[in-house]
Amino acid sequence: MDKNADIAARLQALRDDYAARLPAELQQLRKLVNDLANPELRAEALGQLNHRLHKLAGSAGSFGFTDLGKQAKKLELQAQEWLAGKALDMGLLRVFSVAVAALGGDLQAERNNKPMPLVSQTTPQKTNTLIYVLEDDPDIADEVCMTLRHFGHQVEHFATIAAAEAEVLRRPPDFMICDIMFVEEGREAPEAVMILQQHLPAPIPVIFVSTRTDFDAYHAAVRAGAVGYFVKPLDTIRLVDCFEFYLDRHRSAPHRVLIIDDDLSLAEHYKLVLKAAGIHAEISNNPRNIFELLQDFHPDLVLLDINMPVCNGIELAQVIRLNQDWLRVPITYLSSEQDVEKRAVALGRAGDDFLSKPLSDRELITAVSTRAARSRQLSDALDRDSLTGLLKHSRIKEQVDIELSRTMRNGDELSVVMLDLDHFKQINDTYGHPAGDKVIKAIAHLLRQRLRKTDAVGRYGGEEFVAVLPRCGRDEALLLMEDVRQRFRDISFSAGDINFNVSLCAGIAAYRPGMDRAEQLLQEADAALYRAKSEGRNRVCCSR
Ligand code: GH3
Ligand code: MG
Ligand code: MG
Repeated sequence: MDKNADIAARLQALRDDYAARLPAELQQLRKLVNDLANPELRAEALGQLNHRLHKLAGSAGSFGFTDLGKQAKKLELQAQEWLAGKALDMGLLRVFSVAVAALGGDLQAERNNKPMPLVSQTTPQKTNTLIYVLEDDPDIADEVCMTLRHFGHQVEHFATIAAAEAEVLRRPPDFMICDIMFVEEGREAPEAVMILQQHLPAPIPVIFVSTRTDFDAYHAAVRAGAVGYFVKPLDTIRLVDCFEFYLDRHRSAPHRVLIIDDDLSLAEHYKLVLKAAGIHAEISNNPRNIFELLQDFHPDLVLLDINMPVCNGIELAQVIRLNQDWLRVPITYLSSEQDVEKRAVALGRAGDDFLSKPLSDRELITAVSTRAARSRQLSDALDRDSLTGLLKHSRIKEQVDIELSRTMRNGDELSVVMLDLDHFKQINDTYGHPAGDKVIKAIAHLLRQRLRKTDAVGRYGGEEFVAVLPRCGRDEALLLMEDVRQRFRDISFSAGDINFNVSLCAGIAAYRPGMDRAEQLLQEADAALYRAKSEGRNRVCCSR
């Protein structure tokens, strides 16, 4: 069974399970309503009713019982008024009882409403992308085109708007990079691109490059379909990153969401829905484990239910924020709480925003992916080295720690690679520091391109890199690094009129049962690297 069919089957099983439990739950509600008539049982019954209606209101919609969920919400609000001390009017109670008795009267009809299909994000991975570069400055055009070609993309350069237009219409590219200052016969590039987009079956993502930083320039870029805007002098590597992000989002590790909800079957439903959209979710109904969960999972976003026994969501959000390690992770409450005042109180304590239950599958996916993407973007800005876009020293060491703990628990394989450019001081001395920087960017790119999305790469020092490869044994790591070594060796760099090549050494250390310190793996990888250097450079060695 393919992945999506499997998820669909499991979602259906959850729905069936929920539907099977509903009649008993509705029966329980009716019994509680009867108890309301008895003054001795009333307080207890009201509390229970409120709790159960609240849960029903929050979950029914997600399992395909939208009307039931809405009905339950109305009844919950009534129960809340009574709980808050409003006198219990017998006439109103009768209406309430009838409404509870009618709850779920039409379950079968509702069940036939098929839930919305999930968006499938299993677009095939593209390796060879067609990119058009519209740039009148030949030096910039050369650099951009060369960098893109190094990474296996097909690039065409156009020096006039008219030439580009004709070719875009004949053979639309996957992406365009366009100089905003390009003016030809009174036509400005952004405007020309905007009109061009209207004649295409699907808009083409464009990155604009410009010396302008004024509002009008940005505005024109947005209208022309900009997904990126770069100010000159151009940082080609960041530009390449930007377009790779758009073309190939799923090459970066899937977004991670931690869901804490006492209603585990609802949480499981959310998890499966998110999984179908390529988002990785972990669920728990145990707030006590929050720090272990955060540490193990490193979520991009935390979704918290508010009404939970023992420790409610607002308290839990405060607990998370008290820990300095988790100041950054965004917290979204997932709640059927509609009271604006109560929401404001919650946000005043901790947490960043609210999602309202019941939540349709599509709303859930959109809300979670935008928040998680934003969070990842901010984290990246803080955690990544500006020259290469790779993780900084402390973050990559942390990553070795995280993967080692995971490996110790699940008994998988794990390899750590340390990599260093050969005779790099000499490269700088001979060709100049800027040429050296280009070489560093190139190896960073190559590493990112060759590694899997679950791998992590960091810039450990100047021209030293560390890669963490979970579920990858020593032999597999060796094959991979040999491939990287050869490809890197084949890249031709240029400084002025001179072309040159650079080689690298790598040392690999593989996890063995009994290892329990990240430092041990790093030291072994370093020792293997040292051996590669002493055996003549341009080679990969494994720790023994
Ligand atoms: P080996 O083969 O033994 O690794 O020799 P090496 O010359 O590469 O090693 P060494 O550690 O002596 O020199 C590293 C050089 O890397 C020195 C430093 O100037 C250069 N370097 C470090 N960071 C950067 C950087 O960000 N940009 C550039 N261009 N050079 C850098
Ligand atoms: Mg070196
Ligand atoms: Mg070095």
